[in-house]
Amino acid sequence: MKSTQSQITAIVGTQWGDEGKGKITDFFAGTSDYVVRFHGGNNAGHTVIVDGNTFKLHLVPSGVIYGKPISVIGNGVVIDPKVLIDEISYLKRKGVDPKLIISDRAHVIMPYHIALDGVLSDHQQNLAAGSTNRGIAPVYADKMFRNGIRMIDLLEPEVFREKLEKGFSFNKKLIETMSGELLNQTIEETYKTYLEYGETLSKYITDISVELFDEYKSGKKILFEGAQGISLDVDHGVYPFTTSSNTATGHISIGTGVNFHKVDRVIGVVKAYLSRVGESPLPSEFLNATADRIRDVGKEYGTTTGRPRRIGWLDLVQIRQAVRVNGLTEIALTKLDVLNNINQISVCVAYTSNNETIKEMPASLTAYRNAEPIYEDLPGWGDLPSSVWEKGYDALPSKLQDYVSFIENEVKCPVRILSVGPQRHETIIR
Ligand code: GDP
Repeated sequence: MKSTQSQITAIVGTQWGDEGKGKITDFFAGTSDYVVRFHGGNNAGHTVIVDGNTFKLHLVPSGVIYGKPISVIGNGVVIDPKVLIDEISYLKRKGVDPKLIISDRAHVIMPYHIALDGVLSDHQQNLAAGSTNRGIAPVYADKMFRNGIRMIDLLEPEVFREKLEKGFSFNKKLIETMSGELLNQTIEETYKTYLEYGETLSKYITDISVELFDEYKSGKKILFEGAQGISLDVDHGVYPFTTSSNTATGHISIGTGVNFHKVDRVIGVVKAYLSRVGESPLPSEFLNATADRIRDVGKEYGTTTGRPRRIGWLDLVQIRQAVRVNGLTEIALTKLDVLNNINQISVCVAYTSNNETIKEMPASLTAYRNAEPIYEDLPGWGDLPSSVWEKGYDALPSKLQDYVSFIENEVKCPVRILSVGPQRHETIIR
């Protein structure tokens, strides 16, 4: 199984996250010089299985598992230094000494951001995405308030003290007013602990914009690894049921500080069905024995909570938006094996809402709440031939090929990668 690669490739989610981006990224990472994260924080998660060895990563790009590429955490990412230090230790225990650089401009998740997240969740109740309570929304908000602390500040005790006093007092007031309880944190303790974190991470902290720019000019290959998916993008997703960052490729330049005006290859990862954690309307959701079976076969349970995920049929209204907003040049279609032996596979091609047919994602929450899926029902393909990945696309059952052509035709984007199992080799390139 070979992969051809352009100088700059981006891999992004086209749904609600958990599409299998980790596996696709991992597939390309080995031939890259840099693997870069440009948004989000440790609210994301990738699972990569290499030679039977499972790696679960939340913050470090999954390309780290290879010796060659340098992993980059861009300024658009928000960093919990404790989580990062733990992840570096986890990798070392698994025999990987990470080649890592971290943007000096990335914002730091502070303990009071995590405390505020809990208060915020109580306030938002059902009108927001299920928060992971890791401080992500509060740290991004503090960045916009210009109250934030950046990685470089952890290396400058005086500046850090000034900024901490400002950030701490602001957040303390907010937390205590909203919760009616005293914040159980002190400036002194936070100051000391975070200076230590800064010292531990100092060797990784640098101006990644300059390094990436110079290396790009000298012809190095760069892979951008998106987290979550388009419907969770804070601008283009189903707001307010989104994450707090921009998941779309448009954020690549902002989140790294390099004007990558030409990303030659943009791969959108599409799972052959939908799964969703947390609240929000979900037009193509269904609840029956087939959904239960997809959940079980696809292991659609929350990675940390173990909670069963909601299941839906593939929604092409969502994918149409992902193709347009991200400028996808191709699709990687994953978890096809999970739909084996299902007699009839439905695909949502549009919605009916308020007596109108909708083919594009509505901004209106009323329209999305009222959306009824319009399905095209396609025949299932039964089982896949054994070791089908060795035999290539032409060996796939014709009904599966029809399913692929149907998607391509509806969303006007070619499917070039097909994933038929969790292992790296269980992949077909067309
Ligand atoms: P991400 O959040 O998009 O990065 O999702 P992950 O890469 O963590 O993938 C979610 C899960 O799907 C992991 O357990 C993967 O091993 C698994 N997975 C990925 N591709 C396939 C596939 O084609 N078939 C099956 N059965 N599992 C897959």
